Amino acid sequence: MCGIVGYVGRQKAVTILIEGLKRLEYRGYDSAGLAVLQNDRIELAKKTGRVAVLAKEAQKHRFTGTTGISHTRWATHGGVTDANAHPHLSSDDKFALVHNGVIENYSAIKKFLTGQGYTFRSETDTEVLCNLIAYHYAKEPAAPGESRFLDSVRKALRHVEGTYGIAVICTEAPGELVAARKGSPLILGVGDNEFIIASDVAALISHTQNVVYLKDGEVVHVTSKEFFISTLDQEDVSPVVDRVTWDIEAAELNGHAHFMEKEIFEQPAALENSMRGRFSEDGSTAKFGGLNLGPVEFRQIDRFVFLGCGTAWHACLVAEHLIERFARIPVEADYASEFRYRNAPLSGNPLYFVFSQSGETIDTLGAMREAKRKGYKVLAVNNTVGSSIAREADGGIYQHVGPEIGVASTKAFTSQLLIGAMLALHVARMRDMSFADGVEYVNALKGAPALVRRMLEQAPRIREIAQRYAHHTDFLFLGRLSLFPIALEGALKLKEISYIHAEGYPAAEMKHGPIALISEKCPSVFFAPKGEIFNKLLSSIQEVKARRGPAIVITTEGCELPPGLADEIITIPTATRPCCRLWRPSPFSSSATTSPAPANAMWTSPAIWQNP
Ligand code: GLU
Repeated sequence: MCGIVGYVGRQKAVTILIEGLKRLEYRGYDSAGLAVLQNDRIELAKKTGRVAVLAKEAQKHRFTGTTGISHTRWATHGGVTDANAHPHLSSDDKFALVHNGVIENYSAIKKFLTGQGYTFRSETDTEVLCNLIAYHYAKEPAAPGESRFLDSVRKALRHVEGTYGIAVICTEAPGELVAARKGSPLILGVGDNEFIIASDVAALISHTQNVVYLKDGEVVHVTSKEFFISTLDQEDVSPVVDRVTWDIEAAELNGHAHFMEKEIFEQPAALENSMRGRFSEDGSTAKFGGLNLGPVEFRQIDRFVFLGCGTAWHACLVAEHLIERFARIPVEADYASEFRYRNAPLSGNPLYFVFSQSGETIDTLGAMREAKRKGYKVLAVNNTVGSSIAREADGGIYQHVGPEIGVASTKAFTSQLLIGAMLALHVARMRDMSFADGVEYVNALKGAPALVRRMLEQAPRIREIAQRYAHHTDFLFLGRLSLFPIALEGALKLKEISYIHAEGYPAAEMKHGPIALISEKCPSVFFAPKGEIFNKLLSSIQEVKARRGPAIVITTEGCELPPGLADEIITIPTATRPCCRLWRPSPFSSSATTSPAPANAMWTSPAIWQNP
């Protein structure tokens, strides 16, 4: 959640740092701060609250230096106070450090350093690391030919347990910055005689599109002219400079109130991009260039295991449903955060897929490493070229939906649903699905963006409904089959975005407990399209109405509901028929065309992440 921006160059660092922090605000934070190196001193400004408050504070300091670091904090250790905000200074004032993550063994290190005479001005785990660097700097000379600054950061990090993305400056190394990562993303932007280190591309994209994605365990030493990457064990790393394919436009709001709204409206284009070039010429199946798995290997798979966290896990659940339904192969969808620690017995010939928009979800990365450690191939569904998951996966499917800046996933989620549906088709066509059914399925998928466009036209009406119910404090979201995960996702979104309590349930499970919650104070949102269990959903709605619960029903265009059953009806458009046959692919017509995939659309080998 938190953000880092660091700068070394010729411009006033403060301007670039504040601009970068503003671009990271979308990630959420509770305080912000910056440190600039000038006149052999480190000048500091840090404040709880918004970046705008920090910007005002910074004006008082008249920062002129051209080297600096900055941070938006999301407190883990120590309350939300000015003193706990980053950057932190070492007790000798020689180092300033910003940190994303958690230093798990901070308490033991703090005890040791206190014994050595170091003092602390905050309650954070981060300050401990800053003083540990100062300790090594003061105590041990660097190896011959080594930078003492770099050397002391490396030495300190060797003692640290936990996760970190850090950026450090030192009064005795003007015009230099050292940054390192383990479990928190860090990217180096390579400009013209200037470098920006950031936890997210959005913070540096207005300055350069040339970036180096640091890997876990790597340390970068930046000077105003060059940069060196090495490991904590002092091995040199040859840097790979990638080019970010999106530009600053993608990080602007373009008239929308916020990024989540913008990304909701980008869904039709996002779906088109996720599909582009990924259907066979005969239009009967999906093809993926980057799975690195031939049909013979595919035939041998006896099970899929899908792993993800939060919204991505919901996409896994939908993919589970579709693959079992169309390809008739068992699928397990598990929380990556649970899988990584529960030592699941693994057997047979499963294929693992991890789903992560950012490619940096630490639990998903951990789960992936666990499956790989046990000798399994792991593929990824991922939106971020060069991310940790993209690099470590054995192959996968890029989503190609452009940056998703809103913290609550929207276009990336629907793109993951689409990719799950395409994967189901791909596997089904290798098994029992006929050519004709394959063509029908492909046409239905190609029609999806147009349907989403029509759905979005209803936004003003849906907003009105939302306003009518906004005062409620409890909601139920209910659906069945592949729409049960959508009910989970609806509830998650309401909690995350509106801070309203909501539960997602399979509609039929309502009677086994949640029904006790139903009253006029607890509206239920039903996902009830026309389909094989439509009548069963109608019964569940009746049960809600019998308890005077308001029912908001999302159903298929043209679908008749018994009069008075629903308090609100939202309809999903269908392309050609009044009632969409959701239990089979619908024969949607489409004018959508596909063009050949661009060279970078395919996931050919892990190496492609180096040169997307
Ligand atoms: N653990 C650090 C703190 O609480 C860093 C938190 C963050 O990642 O923002 O200050």
